[in-house]
Amino acid sequence: CGAELAALVAGASIDVPDFPKPGVVFKDLMPLFADAEVFRRVIDGIAAHHGPGSFDVVAGVEARGFVVAAALAYAAGTGVVPIRKAGKLPRKALSASYALEYGEATLEVHEDAFVAGQRVLVVDDVLATGGTAAAAMDLVERAGGTVSGFTVLLELGFLNGRARLSSRAVRSLLTV
Ligand code: AMP
Repeated sequence: CGAELAALVAGASIDVPDFPKPGVVFKDLMPLFADAEVFRRVIDGIAAHHGPGSFDVVAGVEARGFVVAAALAYAAGTGVVPIRKAGKLPRKALSASYALEYGEATLEVHEDAFVAGQRVLVVDDVLATGGTAAAAMDLVERAGGTVSGFTVLLELGFLNGRARLSSRAVRSLLTV
């Protein structure tokens, strides 16, 4: 099942060299989202891995993480909380700034996004240096949630993001 999911991700992603800047190979997972059969199998595979009742809500990182998060939440029967880029949330929010593989960014979450102790599965499309994931999980905990894990479709192993998240339950369907 793990190998099948890895093959699905490998087969439905496109490498885009030098995007968004020279030297970066962008992993485009939009073909995976666009393929009904692959998308369903990937989302159902993630839901099955975690098992029913192992998390209370899914948090997705803007923007491609939203696609994974909403589908997974629906499949698992939970709600979904968006972790957004700076300045997008309408109410009082907590912020975390971090360095990206290509630049700098700030993420935010509504301060009342979680019920205290709610178990939160954080998801995104790609794990690169781990800065985004670390900031997202920091925000979830500052907002009162308990991080149950971090799941991505694709991990860039050579960037060692996982080492930076060593205290966390990190899962990727495919590591390249
Ligand atoms: P990082 O904080 O370095 O782990 O970067 C992860 C975030 O940036 C995720 O939200 C990804 O969507 C995006 N990202 C970083 N590097 C890439 C890449 N090479 N291909 C696609 N997305 C990437």
